[in-house]
Amino acid sequence: MEKIYDVIIIGGGPAGLAAGLYAGRARLDTLMIEKMTEGGQIVTTNEVENYPGGIEHESGPSLIGRMVGQAEKFGVKTVKEAVTAVELTGDIKIVTTTANVFKSKTIIIATGANPRPIGCPGEAALVGMGVSYCATCDGAFFEDLDIYVVGGGDSAVEEALYLTRFGKKVTIIHRRDELRAAKYLQEQAFANPKVEFFWDSVVTEIKGEEMVEGMTVQNVKTGEIREILADPEDETFGIFVFVGLIPASDLFAGVLDMKDGYIITNDNMETNVKGVFAAGDIRVKDLRQVVTAAADGAIAATQADKYISGH
Ligand code: NAP
Repeated sequence: MEKIYDVIIIGGGPAGLAAGLYAGRARLDTLMIEKMTEGGQIVTTNEVENYPGGIEHESGPSLIGRMVGQAEKFGVKTVKEAVTAVELTGDIKIVTTTANVFKSKTIIIATGANPRPIGCPGEAALVGMGVSYCATCDGAFFEDLDIYVVGGGDSAVEEALYLTRFGKKVTIIHRRDELRAAKYLQEQAFANPKVEFFWDSVVTEIKGEEMVEGMTVQNVKTGEIREILADPEDETFGIFVFVGLIPASDLFAGVLDMKDGYIITNDNMETNVKGVFAAGDIRVKDLRQVVTAAADGAIAATQADKYISGH
């Protein structure tokens, strides 16, 4: 007989893992599909300071490791495959991956969001050659070099602070004259002698043949253009980009109600399609954090259980 899961969770970040934990504990037959390794964006974080009850100085991968263990303990199965298509509207939902076709009574979408590029000339060609979207992954390559961080949100400031352990100095390039990041992070950045700022500024071009050699930065208020060249002794510098996120929702376009690419749900994580729930950063919401993602996942799994049992 063909296998029909109770719940398929798409995405293995904190929202998906929390959904797995709750679905597993409810004894629902649960499959989690994750295209890479579990963890989502938080695995690129060196220290998670604001997860309640978290261990001091715990890294994103360490926290995720404990979440994975907890979900597995309650019987959640995981496959590492990319989802290529979904059919959500029938009573039985169909999820097609690069290797399989899976069926389920309910779906929890926890696909999260990916880093947004600046979009300037030269950026795409120099990814991995000086341009990076992950400080924990690439920071060590820039030991004693200049580092520039683009953005003014929590990610930019948090990662700039982390990068001070490697760079000669770390310059935050922000398009306004005021940071969006949490005040606590701002205070740390302003107090750190290795952190400098280019205010009201955007990167308009990144230059280099086989590595970043220079970039053009424009002041959006005065129009002044600044050419930044690598120190001749260093030959290169690092550009870390944290200018927000792009929701990973393309698969669901035209079927699920969305706002700016984020899926609309009610407080029970229900989408406009029966039996389909969304949790974590993929949802329309104000606060995108591990704690809110985990809470969404718990709610989605609990509601999936109620939907299946008809209560
Ligand atoms: P974000 O909060 O959306 O901030 C993006 C930053 O990039 C903003 O400062 C924005 O400027 C700037 N920006 C956007 N587009 C730009 C462009 N084209 N060129 C130059 N600058 C641009 O994104 P995030 O920092 O990645 O954070 C994403 C979510 O994760 C947020 O909800 C955040 O709170 C959360 N997060 C939390 C923590 C934590 O709690 N420790 C850590 C990391 C992330 P404006 O300010 O002018 O709009």
